[in-house]
Parts: sequence; structure tokens; C-alpha cells
Amino acid sequence: MRSALSYPWREPPAAGRAIEIAEGVLWARLPLPFRPDHLNVYVLDEGDGWTVVDTGLDTPVLREAWAALLGGPLAGKPVRRVILTHHHPDHVGLAGWFQAAGAELWATRTAWLMARMLTLDVQPRPTPETLAFWRGAGMDAGLFAARAEARPFNFADVVAPLPLGYRRMVQGEEIAAGGRRWRVEIGHGHAPEQATLWGVGHELVLAGDQILPGITPNLGVHATEPDADPVGEWIASCSRLLPLATEGQLALPGHRLPFRGVPARLAEFIAHEETALERLTAHLATPRRASDCFGVLFGRRIGSAEYGLALAEAVGHLNHLTRTGGAVRREGADGAWAWQARRNGA
Ligand SMILES: [Zn+2]
Repeated sequence: MRSALSYPWREPPAAGRAIEIAEGVLWARLPLPFRPDHLNVYVLDEGDGWTVVDTGLDTPVLREAWAALLGGPLAGKPVRRVILTHHHPDHVGLAGWFQAAGAELWATRTAWLMARMLTLDVQPRPTPETLAFWRGAGMDAGLFAARAEARPFNFADVVAPLPLGYRRMVQGEEIAAGGRRWRVEIGHGHAPEQATLWGVGHELVLAGDQILPGITPNLGVHATEPDADPVGEWIASCSRLLPLATEGQLALPGHRLPFRGVPARLAEFIAHEETALERLTAHLATPRRASDCFGVLFGRRIGSAEYGLALAEAVGHLNHLTRTGGAVRREGADGAWAWQARRNGA
């Protein structure tokens, strides 16, 4: 599909620098140690301090990056508020660090609960539920054996402790930030209850990972909720947000570059999922495990670093077919699920 997106800035801000997107709205970029290798943060001028939108991981490199920003373009003024778009570690990682230094945290209830729950859920080995999920999804036997005996990724490894207490953001409320009004619009699919902020009387949209240019956000299922349908929630959210989108809006996404063309991008997301589900249905003419569906879903080889996310996303798409009646799931003797397309009328 032809993309109708345009990018007013060809280059992101350099390390330690910020670009003024509009009066009172700064854009800075932080490095991440995994793909996509960066996070965009937006810093809103509150006069005697700042509101920051998303924070990056809690690592020494990221703390130094923030120190450079605070001492440089942010002119030593304090961060008084963190607005969190969603609970993923690259976004929430340093929220508790800012809170410990006096900032308030604003988030949706689910984002806050997920982040706080996951920071407290430290496991030395994968839980039995996680192992069952990996087995169900048909994880490669060699990877399964290695990961079952290794310390898993723990959210708290890269997310600072979140103190008790936050300010909830709810669907449709208007909030003030950076001398402007914004309406909270909540989306689902990539993360439950992801907040996006849509300009009221202006055309900026703080889009988080709900509306990214160039990459489609991961729509993953995890052991927490093995039968979840993030793909269905994602399509529903894109459809709900589409009538709010206009050509003039400038989207400020969590990754890649700010862009115009929000209506086209939301339509692309929906079309992308529809064609992916069609390819997947055709692939399920014979029974397949989730790990058998990487080629048809991603069109490339999946390395071990991205294997877990790929598996989560494959289950996401298969669950959607199960939910909507397009496929049936059976469990094999080895505990792995196999999905098969349902023939018309079957
Ligand atoms: Zn995310």
C-alpha cells in the first residue's frame, strides 16, 4: 500500500539535545539496547518545571542521558510530572526514579497496575505457567531447554521500583500540559489501556506506541493471559481512533520520527492485520504450531533475541482466529497447541 505519511524532521535530535516541536513541546531521544534502538520522549514546559512523556529504561546509560538533558536543554528545571503512555519497560523504566525525586506519575489504571505488579514479580527461573505457555506455543526445543534453566528477563531488571500512588487518566478526560489542552484517548492491543493525548485547539498528538510510523507495534500474548486477543483489540482501537484523525495532525510517536498522515497510518494498520490474518488462515490448511507461523507472519528469519516476542505475536494472531471462529486449537500429546483453519460450515 502507498504510504501517505510525511516527516517534517528528517533527523532525530542528537544525544543530549532537544528539538522544539512547537512552543513548550520538546522532543528528545534516548538510546535503547534492543530494537528499535531508541525511544522518543517529549518534554512539556510547565514554567517552573517539566512534564515528561515516557522515560526510557532504568539503566546507567539512560540515567546519564537524562542527566545530560536536564543539565542541558532542560536548563536545570525539575521534572514535576511523568505522563506514561503504557507500561512497557522502555516507557516506564525511570518513572519511579523521577517520582523518587518529587515528580507525580500520571497513567491509566491498567498501565500503572501492570507496571507495579511486574516490578514486584521477580523470578529466578521461569514459572510453571510460563513454561506451559512456551510449550503450548511450540517453542523451539533447544531454546526451551536453555530458557527453562536460566534466569528469565525480569521487568525489575530495567524498571526502577514504583512507589505507591499515581494519578489516573481516564478515557475522554481533558488534561493540561505544556500550556495546552489534551484529550485522553485510550487504545488497546500493543498494551492494555495505552494512553494517547490528542490536542484540543491544536494539532499535536502524543501517540505513544499506539500509532507508530514505519513499524507495526508488537501485538503479543504472554503467560499472564494466554487466551488474550490483542489483535482483535488492536483492530478495534485503530477503527475507533480513525474518525478522530485528521491530515493536519502531527503525531509524536514513541519510536521513529514525528509524522503527519495519522488517518492513512491507522487505515494501514487495519489493512496490514487483515492481510496477515488471510495469509495465516491459508497457512493453517494443515495444523500448525505458533512457532510454525513465523515465516508467514514476519517474512524473515527470527533470531533468538527476538524469538520470544515473535512467539508472543504469533499466538496473538492465532488466538484472534480462534476467537473469531476462523480456526480451532487442539493440544498435542507434547503440550503444544496446533491450530487449523475451520472450513466453511465445519
Ligand atoms: Zn510498547
